[in-house]
Amino acid sequence: MAKYTPMIQQYLDIKAQYPDAFLFFRLGDFYEMFFDDAIKAAQELEITLTSRDGGGDERVPMCGVPYHSAQGYIEQLISKGYKVAICEQVEDPKTAKGVVRREVVQLITPGTVMEGRGLLEKENNYLATVTLFADGTYGFAYTDLSTGENRITILASFEDVMNELYAIGTKEIVLASDFPSDEQQLLKERYGVTISYEDGTEMPEGFATIAGGLAQDKLQITFARLLHYIIRTQKRRLDHMQPVQVYQVDHYMKIDLYSKRNLELTETIRSKGRKGSLLWLLDETVTAMGGRLLKQWLDRPLLDRGQIERRLHMVETLIHHYFERQELRERLREVYDVERLAGRVAYGNVNARDLIQLKKSLQQIPALKDIVAKLADNQAQQLADKLDPCSELVDLLERSIQENPPLSVKEGNIIKDGYNETLDRFRDASRNGKSWIAQLESKERELTGIKSLKIGYNRVFGYYIEVTKPNLHLLPKGRYERKQTLANAERFITQELKEKEALILEAEEKSIELEYELFVDIRERVKQYIPRLQSLAKAISELDVLQSFATVSEERHYVKPQFSEHRELVIQAGRHPVVEKVLGTQTYVPNDCYMNKERELLLITGPNMSGKSTYMRQIALTAIMAQIGCFVPADKAVLPIFDQVFTRIGAADDLVSGQSTFMVEMLEARNAIVHATQNSLILFDEIGRGTSTYDGMALAQAIIEYIHDHIGAKTLFSTHYHELTDLEQSLPKLKNVHVSAVEENGKVVFLHKIEEGPADQSYGIHVAELAGLPSSLIRRAEEILAELEQQEEQRKEEQEEPGGENEAVFEQLSMFAEEKPSKEETRLSKKEKKALETLKSVNLL
Ligand code: ADP
Repeated sequence: MAKYTPMIQQYLDIKAQYPDAFLFFRLGDFYEMFFDDAIKAAQELEITLTSRDGGGDERVPMCGVPYHSAQGYIEQLISKGYKVAICEQVEDPKTAKGVVRREVVQLITPGTVMEGRGLLEKENNYLATVTLFADGTYGFAYTDLSTGENRITILASFEDVMNELYAIGTKEIVLASDFPSDEQQLLKERYGVTISYEDGTEMPEGFATIAGGLAQDKLQITFARLLHYIIRTQKRRLDHMQPVQVYQVDHYMKIDLYSKRNLELTETIRSKGRKGSLLWLLDETVTAMGGRLLKQWLDRPLLDRGQIERRLHMVETLIHHYFERQELRERLREVYDVERLAGRVAYGNVNARDLIQLKKSLQQIPALKDIVAKLADNQAQQLADKLDPCSELVDLLERSIQENPPLSVKEGNIIKDGYNETLDRFRDASRNGKSWIAQLESKERELTGIKSLKIGYNRVFGYYIEVTKPNLHLLPKGRYERKQTLANAERFITQELKEKEALILEAEEKSIELEYELFVDIRERVKQYIPRLQSLAKAISELDVLQSFATVSEERHYVKPQFSEHRELVIQAGRHPVVEKVLGTQTYVPNDCYMNKERELLLITGPNMSGKSTYMRQIALTAIMAQIGCFVPADKAVLPIFDQVFTRIGAADDLVSGQSTFMVEMLEARNAIVHATQNSLILFDEIGRGTSTYDGMALAQAIIEYIHDHIGAKTLFSTHYHELTDLEQSLPKLKNVHVSAVEENGKVVFLHKIEEGPADQSYGIHVAELAGLPSSLIRRAEEILAELEQQEEQRKEEQEEPGGENEAVFEQLSMFAEEKPSKEETRLSKKEKKALETLKSVNLL
């Protein structure tokens, strides 16, 4: 077999170290890919696949992208979950002996993107790591390389790991190579993350140890793995990595990932987009940093009352100072992403335009400080104190960097005059030289008498004197040396011009070199400010989120929540914030909710589409909004501080692949029942609907009883099993409420109003009528209902236990619910009771 050429051999050697990445192999002005990489990249990027002779028996598949437009292609691959290894020439091809030396200078992965489309302004891009320990606990850490934020914790179960991953929305996870494969599979399936491996677990040199008490070793191992991976892929110093923050999930309100999805906190179930989520509603932030912090706050509602009330107090203050808030927003609009700018400084990929953005942002700080101070409030003052204007840095940037610098930092035009004497001298030399040349033109014209004589410049020949052909005879002999001949002119140079040219070009070259050196020096000096810029960024984002809360709260007439020490919940005229916004305040019907120690469970009955689940969600959203420190959609709200929120609501999107809706329902129910405490909030919407009516109802009742007797969590339970309303008699802390409806012209109109007591049973028939069942059938049903009600009365009087005949009723019910009603008409007339029950429960609307 023929041998590959040395270059292809070099490619193969390097590629072997990066089997799971596309290797972008620098060849002159292109990044080339070979072999399978080329075939796959040509497909993914829709670029032409070619081939070249590689010395082997067959031609080598090849494709490439131009160096200057590589960024876009890299981003495309990263966004599809791939990794890209950037392999550069690391010696000058002119001086190289044999094949130019090449090395991978950076491995770009979905979790380590530092620029471009991969980074959404208002979203963090987290790289996460999970370590499983022998005792079954998990070390969990994550970092955002673009901002330098690091957080770490120890989690008790894989379920908690999944919850955390959902909260941070990571695109890449670093694992030990022996991490359990079934769990790896789950991670991939549910989150579509890229999985990377790293087995280094000794803390790398130069990093501080983590103070973590008993868990210190675990924390260290977990974080070391992440650091090793970053160092291995990024191959550079990361001066902006912030000290790692150890956190505990039980310091925040716990909302499992199902509930977060169900409640549509940060994305909607259907579109998976922000629009229509609570985050979308609350986001009136004006900076990217604020946008990111808002999402973080929403992912972690607080438990500490003092902390919550401090946020609420600031929101209130900002609401009361309308003009200051408008001014604040105006100023914040001028603030760029200081946090990510600091990251770019650390990474060494900051350019002069970034530094101008940084300067402009910092120039807003004194004014921001003044505005916050004007709020005349202690707490605001504390925030104002954290707004560090970094004035020496502003001063440095103001003196050094030109206002409209080019993107490239290697082509000059970056540094201001007067910043550096040597640079000024070079510039003088080149400027003087240029004006000398301008004068030379008129001098030469006079000397030769050629009016059309010109002096010009091009990159190849440098400066020249151009004389048109008809005038050539006027040139004196000797002094002019021919350089270039054009169609109707000749170009010359003189000794004098040559000398000046050398001076000018040298000065220019030197000044560009010097400018780059000065820029690098400035960049190094800006590095010193990174920690200060990061704390400034924190203060700005906090201010931005608080003003966002104030803006939304004022606009939508929200009220400041109060907190109850006695597990009491009073909501007057509460609204679902998103539904209210979408429907409009005029249309939305506000509802009250009252719960306390004697009223822990509310059983909500009412026809489909009457507003049961909207009502339940609004209670949960109100609690969450309160605990992130925002005002809430109500006229009055007194709330307990909830430790956890559990939901089983509405359209079951099949989160656990391969499992039935009913299984998902039961998993979610279990999750609540196992973890809820009396300080939790549980929302169960139509639990048991996914199975036959009989066991569905049995389960529903058992779940209610269990919560009532053993947990005591505040629970809202909606059901269409009217039979369950009898539980009010046996369970003292359970109360019936219903969504009212009225009949207008023989039609049911939902009022969306929650009222005390169970729903009136007969709405089922009206709903059936609305659905267009034949009127004779409807009349028959009404007769049967009357009969049944009579029987029921009798039965109650005789104190009979419910008999076995019910079983048949329930079976029939579920059958009917799944089939087309028209087929059932004949059967209905025979089995009257069953038909009636069916009409009551069928979900036609
Ligand atoms: P259910 O859970 O009873 O089937 P939903 O809560 O899904 O009903 O509500 C059905 C529809 O009714 C919602 O999409 C919404 O448009 C409307 N709705 C619900 N609650 C209200 C309300 N309080 N005011 C106005 N419209 C409401």
